[in-house]
Amino acid sequence: MKILILSRNAQLYSTDALVRAAETRGHEVRVVDYLRCYMNITSRKPKIYVDGEELQADAVIPRIAASHTFYGNAVVRQFEMMGVFTVNDSVAIARSRDKLRSMQLLARKGVGLPVTAFAHHTDATNELIKMCGGAPLVIKLLEGTQGAGVVLAETQNTAQSVIEAFKAGNMNILVQEFIKEAKGADIRCIVVGGKVVAAMKRQAAEGEFRSNLHRGGVAEKVKISPEERAVACRAAKAMGLNVAGVDLLRSNHGPVVMEVNSSPGLEGIEQCSGKDVSGMIIEFIERTAANPPKAGDAV
Ligand code: ADP
Ligand code: GLU
Repeated sequence: MKILILSRNAQLYSTDALVRAAETRGHEVRVVDYLRCYMNITSRKPKIYVDGEELQADAVIPRIAASHTFYGNAVVRQFEMMGVFTVNDSVAIARSRDKLRSMQLLARKGVGLPVTAFAHHTDATNELIKMCGGAPLVIKLLEGTQGAGVVLAETQNTAQSVIEAFKAGNMNILVQEFIKEAKGADIRCIVVGGKVVAAMKRQAAEGEFRSNLHRGGVAEKVKISPEERAVACRAAKAMGLNVAGVDLLRSNHGPVVMEVNSSPGLEGIEQCSGKDVSGMIIEFIERTAANPPKAGDAV
């Protein structure tokens, strides 16, 4: 098959791992920077070009950076218009990039989440704190990544000041119950084609509640429970993602989903779990490209 990876950087571990996995399995594979793609908007024969060349593919693996979701997703959509199978479709990617939309959707589908509240106006600060059961609380910037903009407010006063400070800076936030019993650990599950194919536990550094590897968190092997497996699969399905990284916290009311990522990084998980996740993504394409499933639940 002709497999096209939409990625800005062929040197990234994840991109390179997918290239090698596709080549090993005898596919013709190419990495294209989606920001260099251009296209015509037409109902008859949509096409897509890079450097004067018309692109052809049997399957596309989108690896769109969060900072380029808008244009990257337009490129993915054009491939969809051309009838090319994309591992994750553009609607599911857009959904996963919007935290509030994702959480509303997951809640509606009965997936367990930390108790969460949000508001635009600071008048509601006390109500938000109350809705989440009072301090300690986690306050998150909606646009934050890698744990930046995630604050643990231990007291009611801190929670109030932090919410007001973020709001004064015109930033969108959400307020969440603090899952203390997770003890600074979260579980990253990789779902491919409806199954959890690999998992790892990330443990935060001493004195830190955020387990992000960029903040000194360490990845460890983990055995997940059947319930955790089921929750991760349900979350990916609700989001309409064929390939997803689902982050769970172990709470005393069961596994709760923190986030669902549509372009999960492969380096940490492949090294930690010893699983060939990139190979499994290519095999998923082999099984599915000819007979693509219906796009995720459009709701
Ligand atoms: P980002 O997307 O920036 O990584 P997250 O929402 O994933 O932000 O939060 C970063 C880390 O903080 C998580 O990996 C987790 O370890 C911790 N964390 C986030 N929310 C909670 C919570 N409600 N309770 C306990 N720990 C949390
Ligand atoms: N309402 C759905 C969601 O929140 C998606 C709508 C759409 O298909 O764009 O994910």
